[in-house]
Amino acid sequence: SQLYLLEGKVYQLSFAPLKSGQQTVGWIGYGYQINSSLAQNLANVTGLSVEFLLNEANDRWLNLAAAAAPHMANNSAEKLGQQIVSGHPDPAIFHTSISLGMVNQQDLKATIYGSRSSLLEALRQNLWQLMIFEGLTIFLAMIVAYKLSGRISKPVKKLVRQAQYIARGNYDSSVDITEKNELGQLAQEFNLMQQAVLVREQKINHQLRYNSLTNLPNRYSMLETLEALCAGDSQGCTLIHLDIRRTKTVNDTLGYDTGNLMIKEVGKRLSDLNKEKMIFHLGADEFAVILMTTDQMQAVTWCKNVEKFLDPPLCGEGVMLHLQVHAGVASAPMDAKDAQLLLQKADTALSHSKRAMIAFLPYKAEMDADAGRTLSLVNDLKIAIEGDQLQLFYQPKLDINTGVVRDLEALIRWHHPEDGMIPPDAFIGIAEQTGQIDALTRWVIREAARQYNAWVAEGLTLSIAVNISAENLKNQNFTTELQEIWQEFSLPMDALALEITESAVVSDPVSAIGMLCDIQDQGIKLSIDDYGTGYSSLAQLKQLPVDELKIDRSFVDKVYSDPDDQIIVRSTIRMAHDMGLSVVAEGIEDAETLEWLEEQGCDKAQGYFISRPAPAAEMSQWLKEKNNPNKAISANA
Ligand code: C2E
Ligand code: CA
Ligand code: CA
Repeated sequence: SQLYLLEGKVYQLSFAPLKSGQQTVGWIGYGYQINSSLAQNLANVTGLSVEFLLNEANDRWLNLAAAAAPHMANNSAEKLGQQIVSGHPDPAIFHTSISLGMVNQQDLKATIYGSRSSLLEALRQNLWQLMIFEGLTIFLAMIVAYKLSGRISKPVKKLVRQAQYIARGNYDSSVDITEKNELGQLAQEFNLMQQAVLVREQKINHQLRYNSLTNLPNRYSMLETLEALCAGDSQGCTLIHLDIRRTKTVNDTLGYDTGNLMIKEVGKRLSDLNKEKMIFHLGADEFAVILMTTDQMQAVTWCKNVEKFLDPPLCGEGVMLHLQVHAGVASAPMDAKDAQLLLQKADTALSHSKRAMIAFLPYKAEMDADAGRTLSLVNDLKIAIEGDQLQLFYQPKLDINTGVVRDLEALIRWHHPEDGMIPPDAFIGIAEQTGQIDALTRWVIREAARQYNAWVAEGLTLSIAVNISAENLKNQNFTTELQEIWQEFSLPMDALALEITESAVVSDPVSAIGMLCDIQDQGIKLSIDDYGTGYSSLAQLKQLPVDELKIDRSFVDKVYSDPDDQIIVRSTIRMAHDMGLSVVAEGIEDAETLEWLEEQGCDKAQGYFISRPAPAAEMSQWLKEKNNPNKAISANA
C-alpha cells in the first residue's frame, strides 16, 4: 500500500499483479482518495475534528482535507491542524498527530483534535448517566458486602449473645454454628470453654458450701439454711452446736492425720444419725445440726443419741480414740429470731457445757449474763489470790492394801464475797488465760506447806498432792520458786507432791520434760493426773519422770459394769506396775468398785465413797478416825 500524489490529490493505493502462469499480464490497483469525505467519516467515528496535512516545505503545510467535529458547524470550525503540526497548538484544545507516510518525499500527517470545553460539555451531558451508573454500582457493591459480612457477623453475634448469656450465669445452651471455617472452630472452642467454666464454677460453688475434709455442708450453708428457716413462717427449729473434745491434744500428740480421722469419723456418725441430713461441718472440730422442732425434750433425746452413737471408740495409730463432744442447744424463735444470733446462743450454751464438763446444755438467758460475769471474775480473782477468799479442801487417797491414808490431794475453793463458792473448773481456766496461774499455784503450794506443818504439829505426817497447770511449766523460775518454798517452810522432800496432766507436756515436751526431771531430781514426787484422757502412748509416758499414775474417773465410774473400761483399767494397772509406777484410781463412788480395784492390784483409791474433799479441820478429824479408829472413838467419847 502506498501514497500517491496525482494531479494535486493524494491517494492511498494498493496493487496486485494479474498473472497468467509465470507471466504477469497486468496489475489491479484499488484505493481511495485522502479527501474531505474520508475526513468526515473519521470525524463522525471519533467525534473530533480531523485534518490531513502535507508538508510542502519546512514549516509550510498544505491542508489536503478537513472535517469539523460533528457538533460543530463545518464552516465555523477553525482549521487548527497547521498550528498543531508546527508545534504551536492552542492550549484550549487537545490533539494528536499521526504520520501516515511519505508522498513524493513529503510527510503526510493526520491531525485529530477537539476543544477541551466541548469535551467537558459532553462529559457534563453524560454526568447523570454516570451518577446513576455509579449509584447502581455502589448499591450492588453494598448488597454483596452485606451478604458477605452477614456470613461473618451473624455467627460473631451469636457468640456475643452466648457470652452475655454465660456472663449471667446460664450454662444450659451451646452456640450452634455449623460452618467448617475458623468461626465454626471458634464456636466449638467456645462451647468447650463454656463446659470448662461450668465445671469450674460448680467446683468453686461446692468449695464455697462444703467442707473439704468431711464433704459436709459448711458454716455458710448452715447460715443460709437457718436464715431461710428463720425468715419463713416455719414452725421453728433447734440448732445444736457441737465441738469434739480434746482435738487439740490428739493433733499435738498423734498428729493432724489422726486428728482429721477423728473429725471425719464424728462427721460420718452424725450424718448416719441425722436422717434429714441437716448436719453441717462448721470448720476445725465444730459441727452443727438443725432439728425441725422446738421441743427441748426431742433435742435432748437427740443429744443423748449422739453420745450413744459416738461411744464405740475409734482405733487409730495404735491408740483408742474416744469420740466425745460438747454441745450447745438453742431454738428459734424462742432463743433468737435470726440465724446469726441463734448460732451465737448455741455457741454460748456450748461454752458453758465445756466449762461445766457436761456433754450438752440448752441455752438459758442467764448464760449471757455469765459472759459478763467471766470478765469481772478476771478482776475478782486477783483480789482473791491476794486476799483471803481462797481455801484448800483436801481429799484422801486411800492405800488399798493397808487401809491407811497417808496422802491427800489439795483442791482449791474460792469463796466469792457475792457469788458464794466458785468451783475450780470455773476459774482455773481464767487464771491460766490471764497469766494469774503462777500466783495462784504459788498460793496453793504455800498454803499446802503451811497446812503440812500444822498437821505435823498435830501429830499427823502426811503427803499433800498439789495440782499443777501446764502454764506453770512454762515459767522458767518454777523450780527455783519450789526450792524457796521448801526452805521457807523447812519441808522434807516428800511433804508435797505435784499432780500434772499428760496434756501439760504436749505443747513443748522438751522443755516440760526437762523441768519435770529437775523437779524429780530435787526429790519431789510427781503424779500423772487424769490418765487415759490425753492419748499419750506408752512410749511417751515412759519419757515422763513420774512416780504415780492416776486413772481418770471417767474410766473408773462405770468400771464395775462396763467390760471395755475393765480392760482399760486392768491393763493400765499392769502397765504402770511394769514401769514401776504406783496407781491411783479416781472417782470411786461405791464399795463394788473399790473391791474390784483391790482385786486388780490397784494401789490407792480416791473418791466420794472414801471421802469428799473437805476443809483441813474436817479432814484432820476424819484422818484421825480413819487411821486410828479406836483412838478417835475414845476421843469423841
Ligand atoms: P482433779 O485434779 O481431777 O480433781 C479431782 C476432782 O474430782 C475434784 O473436783 C474432786 O472433787 C472430784 N472428785 C473426787 N472424787 C470424786 C468422785 O468420787 N466422784 C466425782 N464425781 N467427783 C469426784 P474439783 O475439786 O471440782 O476440782 C476439779 C479440777 O480442778 C481438778 O480436777 C483439777 O484439775 C482442778 N483443780 C483443783 N484445784 C486445783 C489447784 O489448786 N490448782 C490447779 N491448777 N488446778 C486445780
Ligand atoms: Ca488432781
Ligand atoms: Ca484427776
